[in-house]
Amino acid sequence: MFASVIVDIASSQVDKVFDYIIPDGLTISRGNRVMVPFGKREIEGIVISVNETTRVDSAKLKTISHKLEDIPVISEEQFKVASFLKEEYNIGLADSFRLFLPSEMRLGKVKDLVAVCLTIDDESKAKEYLSKLKANATQQQGAIYAVLEEGKVLQSKLAKRFGQSALSKLKKEGVLVEKPEVVLRSPYKGVKILDKNITLTPTQKMVIERLTSESGVFLLHGVTGSGKTEVYMNVIKDKISNGKTAIMLVPEISLTPQVLGNFRARFGESVAILHSGLSAGERFDEWKRILFGEAKIVVGARSAIFAPVKNLGVIIIDEEHDGSYVSESNPRYNTIEIAQFRAQSEGATLVLGSATPSLESYHKAMTGEYKLLEMKERVNAKALPPLKIVDMSREMREGNSGVFSRDLTSALERTIESGNQAMLFINRRGYASFLMCKECGWVAKCKDCDVSLVYHRAENALKCHYCGNRYKVFDVCPNCGSKSIKQGLLGTQKVQQELEELFPNVKILRMDNDTTQTKDGHLKILNEFREGKAQILVGTQMIAKGHDFPGVTLVGIIDADVSLHQSTYKACERTFQLITQVAGRAGRADKSGEIILQTYAPRHYIYNMASHYDYPMFYKKESNAREVTAFPPFATIFRILVSGENEEEVREKTKDIYTEITDYQKDNKENFVYLGVMKSPIGRIQNKFRYQILMRVKPNGEKAIKKFLFETLDKNKSQNVISFIEINPQNLS
Ligand code: ADP
Ligand code: ZN
Ligand code: ZN
Repeated sequence: MFASVIVDIASSQVDKVFDYIIPDGLTISRGNRVMVPFGKREIEGIVISVNETTRVDSAKLKTISHKLEDIPVISEEQFKVASFLKEEYNIGLADSFRLFLPSEMRLGKVKDLVAVCLTIDDESKAKEYLSKLKANATQQQGAIYAVLEEGKVLQSKLAKRFGQSALSKLKKEGVLVEKPEVVLRSPYKGVKILDKNITLTPTQKMVIERLTSESGVFLLHGVTGSGKTEVYMNVIKDKISNGKTAIMLVPEISLTPQVLGNFRARFGESVAILHSGLSAGERFDEWKRILFGEAKIVVGARSAIFAPVKNLGVIIIDEEHDGSYVSESNPRYNTIEIAQFRAQSEGATLVLGSATPSLESYHKAMTGEYKLLEMKERVNAKALPPLKIVDMSREMREGNSGVFSRDLTSALERTIESGNQAMLFINRRGYASFLMCKECGWVAKCKDCDVSLVYHRAENALKCHYCGNRYKVFDVCPNCGSKSIKQGLLGTQKVQQELEELFPNVKILRMDNDTTQTKDGHLKILNEFREGKAQILVGTQMIAKGHDFPGVTLVGIIDADVSLHQSTYKACERTFQLITQVAGRAGRADKSGEIILQTYAPRHYIYNMASHYDYPMFYKKESNAREVTAFPPFATIFRILVSGENEEEVREKTKDIYTEITDYQKDNKENFVYLGVMKSPIGRIQNKFRYQILMRVKPNGEKAIKKFLFETLDKNKSQNVISFIEINPQNLS
């Protein structure tokens, strides 16, 4: 018998399939991970088929050395997903397998964690020994009783209770014997279990009823605080009790102990957690528990969509509009599309939940592709908190050039006096966004990337947010020698500093990429805030999502315009979503909340709609605009990004690809809305030059054009120049 094996060679861009002989006595099936001879080395591979014949010359055939696990590690369900990834995103099988398997499993990086347990082999012998023990040998008695009762106990645990000397004696007598055991490392052992006794609201009941009795794809549009999590858990419970499994995805950032605590409380050990904050060993163990069917519910960030669960009953994607569901580095994919495929091919229900669905998803609900479920009221029956728009140019005209408007300052004072909490949101980390010379207009830039540097006060350094380069601060303009160097826009650090001056006796916490570098860094900050150890939390969009802080009554949005001015067709949508999400943090418990939004464009329609929480109105206006201008979901954007260290080569390659596309376009004119080629907005990152070909195509032509583009790029692969396709990219930098 022969096996076709995909070998795992890191740098290879194409799948390498080789046939190997299966040695006598070894059972091999599709999905097994095996070691095979390859050149002079031995490498890992995945068996994709087992055959009775091979076309390879028998003299050239080599034999599989051994298999790495007894059971296949790639399931049939995953093979199907792999074909989908190939078809939709041109991702090769080898790359798919890398997505499916924990990285620490490859190249044998992690060994099973083995701990020593003590157990009793011969019960009658133990009982006899027990009967002969002196009455005062209480430690030995205790140890024997404990092991008799539990079957086996960790040696370290037993030693703590009964002392090492008692154990040594018992082992010497042969009463207790050592037994190595694989111990699974469980992340979040210390998570507090929060099981609330909850009576479902009529709306929740109705929604759960439909989600458990019908199949298909649902869009659950529920305002912030409407109790969506409770709905998810009830639907999962229903599926589990019918012998099925569940995948629940949340944005990486909202994987808080609170969410996990909720799930652990309800489902105990049958929950597995997958996200990037786990240690290598923890992730590996969680994955094993899923593979072996011990864990029936997977909670995780986007890559958990690839989890090896069998018998899938439901996939839930919370905060479905969140940008983190689109993978923007290789391999590039859209989690919702994969979830839709998995749900359909495995007969599961798909639930997309959000207070501010993406325009694309809502459009599908409006056109009948998704079923729309709505939860319009908060569980606490309180109205959504009032949102006040403050005109910052007017503040300036009236003599206040500070960071905080008079409204926000007095609201902060009130909040602090009444012992409540406030969250201040600013969509920029660091201190000031850039350093600029007032005389000549020079701006501090990164030497490897065409972007401005950001000043970080704590380190008194300038940093590039694209590549991480650090620079010393300039006192003198390197261009003209002037000393009047001015800081540009505001960042989180600056806001914190201003607050400290305004409220010297108030404890303030800050949460952004800089304060959450350590493992569990953001958990620490969130916990402190929840426990009321600080009254104000300043942060970037990290604080916008999902968190449930009962003490928060005031939310301030310092500079709402930041996201509005982003150069993407999603700028308005993002701004609406961000405001709604941030605003949703206030007044969640029995206290009422208020929101203050500071802007230089107070009459912008987005702010008006957001202040009324008017999603349908927003959808109507925005989808109209997209239809007229032919942007998603009314067209598909393809961006081909070409990059490399030699600008000339990059330009040549871009030109080659572009020429092929223009040829294709000539025969398919009616499907193209736009086609153009240019330098990317950020012309250089990490010293690689970047060019792009941008196109928008009508839905009719999409499939064919995609296929053509994949082929064109495959044909144009080269050593020094990388090129890849992005489909409806989230940002176009
Ligand atoms: P959402 O995800 O829709 O913003 P959550 O699921 O976080 O809302 O619910 C908001 C709060 O209301 C949570 O603290 C949750 O425990 C609570 N909650 C949910 N359903 C109920 C209910 N039926 N009765 C009382 N409290 C509830
Ligand atoms: Zn840089
Ligand atoms: Zn200057």
